[in-house]
Amino acid sequence: ATTPSPSPRPRRRLVVLAGPTAVGKGAVSSYIREHHPEVWLSVSATTRPPRPGEVDGQHYHFLDADTFSSMVEAGEFLEYAVVHGRNWYGTPRRAVEERLDENRPVLLEIDLAGARQVRQSMPDALFVFLAPPSWDELVRRLVGRGTEDEDERARRLATAKIELAAQDEFDVTVVNDEVRRAAEELVSLMDGAVPPLHHG
Ligand code: 5GP
Repeated sequence: ATTPSPSPRPRRRLVVLAGPTAVGKGAVSSYIREHHPEVWLSVSATTRPPRPGEVDGQHYHFLDADTFSSMVEAGEFLEYAVVHGRNWYGTPRRAVEERLDENRPVLLEIDLAGARQVRQSMPDALFVFLAPPSWDELVRRLVGRGTEDEDERARRLATAKIELAAQDEFDVTVVNDEVRRAAEELVSLMDGAVPPLHHG
């Protein structure tokens, strides 16, 4: 009997990364921002206030609710959603389209509801689910980062349970056991991204 060869891994120009709260999407994105400057990371708009260290225009475009809703009215978002039942988040459409027109690999890091909208409007994108090694590890990471109070943590864990159940909707799952490894695996799925020169 012959051993079946592994199916070729899909590579796409537009990759949509989703996954539960505290799984480390932010850390994976930061790693890619630093080590793979050829990858363009979409900068989302949000009505959430900045956390310490977050820079307007770099981590997010921090907007008030009126500005956000007028952008919704004007059709300026590729997708948008209320996340964790609290704040609005959205992907400005034009910047993404411009980068794709330039043939740059583009990464969107968004929530599940947003990913489903992009699935409708840009079905050729590759949808990647970032999964924790285990549920206990996810809870440990959320508590450990200490950026949310207890109410907010409970809200986010409730969302996380729902999001974990949606894993099957995605094309590929990447387990975030270690940030660099997971980030490099993600980059290897991006058409046009440059692989690292050396490992180690
Ligand atoms: P945080 O407030 O911790 O920065 O982000 C909370 C959640 O919002 C994360 O799950 C993140 O993926 C999601 N998010 C960030 N930007 C966007 C966006 O543009 N659209 C959608 N739908 N979700 C987003």
